[in-house]
Amino acid sequence: MSNQRMQAYYDVLHRTPKAITFEGKNSEIFGENVFHTEVMREYLPSEAFKSMIKSVENGDRLDRAMADQVASAMKDWALTKGATHYTHWFQPLTGATAEKHDAFFKPVGPGRAIERFDGDLLVQQEPDASSFPNGGIRNTFEARGYTAWDPSSPAFVIDKTLCIPTIFIAYTGEALDYKMPLLKALHAVNEAAVDVCQYFDKNITKTIATLGWEQEYFLVDKALYNARPDLMMTGRTLFGHASAKGQQLDDHYFGSITARVTAFMREFETESIRLGIPVTTRHNEVAPNQFECAPIFEECNLANDHNQLLMDIMEKVARKHDFRVLLHEKPFAGVNGSGKHNNWSLSTNTGVNLLAPGKNPKSNLLFLAFFVNTIKAIHDNADLLRACIAGAGNDHRLGGNEAPPAIISAFIGSQLTELLDNIEKNVKAGKMTPEDKTELKLNIGKIPQIMLDNTDRNRTSPFAFTGNKFEFRAVGSSANCAQAMIILNTIMASQLKIFKTNIDARIGKGDGKDEAILKELQQMIKDSKKIRFEGNGYGEEWVKEAAKRGLSNLKDTPRALQVWSNKKYHKLFDDLNVLTPRELEARQEIEFESYVYKVQIEARVIDEMVQNYIIPAAIAYQNKLIQNVQGLMNVLGDKAGKVAAKGQVAILEEISEHMNKTMDLSAKMLASRKKANNLKGHEEKAVAYCDNVKVFFDDIRYHVDKLELLIDDEEWRLPKFREMLFTR
Ligand code: ADP
Ligand code: MG
Repeated sequence: MSNQRMQAYYDVLHRTPKAITFEGKNSEIFGENVFHTEVMREYLPSEAFKSMIKSVENGDRLDRAMADQVASAMKDWALTKGATHYTHWFQPLTGATAEKHDAFFKPVGPGRAIERFDGDLLVQQEPDASSFPNGGIRNTFEARGYTAWDPSSPAFVIDKTLCIPTIFIAYTGEALDYKMPLLKALHAVNEAAVDVCQYFDKNITKTIATLGWEQEYFLVDKALYNARPDLMMTGRTLFGHASAKGQQLDDHYFGSITARVTAFMREFETESIRLGIPVTTRHNEVAPNQFECAPIFEECNLANDHNQLLMDIMEKVARKHDFRVLLHEKPFAGVNGSGKHNNWSLSTNTGVNLLAPGKNPKSNLLFLAFFVNTIKAIHDNADLLRACIAGAGNDHRLGGNEAPPAIISAFIGSQLTELLDNIEKNVKAGKMTPEDKTELKLNIGKIPQIMLDNTDRNRTSPFAFTGNKFEFRAVGSSANCAQAMIILNTIMASQLKIFKTNIDARIGKGDGKDEAILKELQQMIKDSKKIRFEGNGYGEEWVKEAAKRGLSNLKDTPRALQVWSNKKYHKLFDDLNVLTPRELEARQEIEFESYVYKVQIEARVIDEMVQNYIIPAAIAYQNKLIQNVQGLMNVLGDKAGKVAAKGQVAILEEISEHMNKTMDLSAKMLASRKKANNLKGHEEKAVAYCDNVKVFFDDIRYHVDKLELLIDDEEWRLPKFREMLFTR
């Protein structure tokens, strides 16, 4: 091992698990750092408390006097938690969260100061956050960006700072973040869903979208991480020969967790629980050093804030434990990548999960209506779902043989397939007799409750029904869930509105309500059939079958992002007041740009590593071999020496061959990069980087990985896969 690698490895071997800092019950600390309802009740005068609750529940605006009272209560509470600063906490389009801290402290005279925080500071601020991506929105008008309080997500204290969840908008009111369109999408789906629920139950006056995410991640020791420029710069390894043992034995999956990892998990979990994030599940994942964490599901906006917060906490706590957490979708070629399953459903103020089969024909018809509407929404907007999970990292995962394919389809299981087939065949055209209706209702009534426990699980589907919710499995591990949730809730809202219009039209023509619903469902089942797929989504067969069905297969990010240019989608988002065409175009620009930067950085790192690590190692080892060959010839004479050095010479030649190919390909890639950089638009650049630059990555890697196998371990300075994946 080279000295550098040896030192890193030595560091890892000598680490001891950090002490577990909290030994008590989770129930005792749950939400203790959150300004939740009970705390508000304690700190707020009763009138202010009531307005605050109304504002949380209905999104009503708080007036100035009330906002002052809330701010003052928040401050008083935060001071008891040791907070010295406050910040508006927001989610710019970088995908990360942002904060700018200000002190409560305010000098008011010589040697005199107070702790100050008022309604104005709570409700709105103007951070000079002009460097965040804005897709041109802030250049043309005023450059100002505002953050505005989102009372529906409670404030919290972290690291002695009071954090206030906010939206981030331009001076002109356009969204510069994920939260604002998410809130609008949630509003739209609520309205549309309530209207449909009204056919079934007049008591349903509110619905909420629910989200339960499952976060996958890798852990790597910090010393090994720091010895890999690619991990540091891009979050993934660009080179590295697969270790002899990978995940083939499945011995890591659900395996026992080591003391060091447990200490890390315990700490980030207790931090999360203090912040009200209900994390309950943890286990080892399939790949070595890969793990998963999942909470109980929550209302979508809150769940999303909680996922963003959790990713932050994980990063911070990992450092304390001398780990680095990898949220990249594919940190290591050859073993599984990481996703973030988004479990999604809709529930009502009456306590019904709209995607859970009911107990009788009536409630089952309600379930079926929402179930079939979801499938139809997916069918009609499959490309949008593909677009919302696009990103340079996820490209390595989608379509790999462990992740959902880039083809969007929905899995529903055999029982529901049977039921939909039944409706498709047996709803009669024309007037239905009472017998017809009874028969159908009987069938619908038969969806057994137990289905919940034994729905077949198809892990190869990007969008699977799992008994009482849909699981969107194609979301990338580093993504902000909001991106997927904005799309899913918006297309659902749009579909439900169409559904209502059609039902009303059928009723207008004389159909009874149930009859109208059944006939409409039948039509939708027919129209959306091709999106349903129950087979193996990883197989080559499916790619062919999907093409035959006319489903899209958008293989890379630039192609997926082009979907956003479709005017049909502009209208859909505009009509529902979620995003204007201008906001959509800006987002598309930002994503093209971000893709270019990511691939560009990877290409640069590849070049650097080839020059500074790979070639020098190859030359050093060749020199050793040359010395040996020359020595043999000195001692044995030219002829006998050559015979004796046959193996060494073969290695020398092989190294030269791979070295030459590596350098040659790097030079070609550089030329391609220059060309791509000269292109004008972000879209053209993204396509060029994808088609003409990124294509070199695998070829270069092939030769570098061969060199890793050939070259003396002494000379190899980059930590190898076996070290990064099997030490912890
Ligand atoms: P896995 O996919 O790993 O087998 P599960 O099927 O148990 O795991 O999924 C669990 C996730 O689904 C959890 O995060 C849970 O909170 C979430 N979930 C369960 N019910 C709902 C619901 N109605 N809405 C949204 N998420 C839900
Ligand atoms: Mg899952």
